[in-house]
Amino acid sequence: MLDKFNRNINYLRISVTDRCNLRCIYCMPEEGVRLIRHEDILSYDEIADVTREAVAMGITRVRITGGEPLARKGVATLISMLAGIGGITDLSMTTNGTMLAEHADELAAAGLMRVNISLDTLDPDKYRRVTRGGELSDVLEGIIAAQNAGLRPVKINCVIKSTPDEEDARMVAGFCMKEGLEVRFIREMDLAGGTFSVVHGGSGGHCARCNRLRLTPDGIVKPCLFSDIGYNIREMGATEALRRAVGDKPEKGTVNHINGFYNIGG
Ligand code: SAM
Repeated sequence: MLDKFNRNINYLRISVTDRCNLRCIYCMPEEGVRLIRHEDILSYDEIADVTREAVAMGITRVRITGGEPLARKGVATLISMLAGIGGITDLSMTTNGTMLAEHADELAAAGLMRVNISLDTLDPDKYRRVTRGGELSDVLEGIIAAQNAGLRPVKINCVIKSTPDEEDARMVAGFCMKEGLEVRFIREMDLAGGTFSVVHGGSGGHCARCNRLRLTPDGIVKPCLFSDIGYNIREMGATEALRRAVGDKPEKGTVNHINGFYNIGG
């Protein structure tokens, strides 16, 4: 489906939870986060219904994100529901990878095609500090499990302060080269401050080429990461919410005062 700036909107990013087992310093406060009430979180049936509608309207690429998608029980069930919708040519997930070692095989069997795994540093102490308690070895095991399960290409999302020349980023780039992983460098963004830039090695951050819609865990279709605009699928129905989101997709991102990365999913 084309929006009014002639962009072909074919990519839906679905955040299935605002819960996460990590607390990355640039993403989620350690305490005091107001989480979405369980009863307000979309069921897998509701997510599948929205996706079916979105595919009928022209979406061909779907990504599952969070929060941490693997922190929600039974995400492989959702994957198999989505894989059963004809017309999705790219079904992927963004995950911190810490629980992938247990889940990679069942996700691949359910129909997940590929994963992006977040990894900002190869220093275990720094990883623990940045994620406030995460274990680097869990992610490294998750990466191997994803490769072995055939979830390829495995891409690494690496958040940087300003340039891919930073020491941690260079280490991550070297590791990716050695292990046959693709790497994308994402400059740290600020939703409320409207700070974002183009993703090195990826497609995000380029408003003129943006092809995305987002679905939040509580059923809001958002046309732009850096905008407060959103339409509630439970109030207006999926078709109308999707239609309005495409129709009102801003030409450029500005600010988002409503969401945090941990609930909209990046
Ligand atoms: N928990 C999953 C993960 O860690 O990949 C999925 C959700 S996370 C919000 C999605 C992506 O957003 C991750 O790659 C994360 O590094 C990135 N992210 C979170 N906060 C960010 C920020 N302030 N600026 C840039 N990227 C950010």
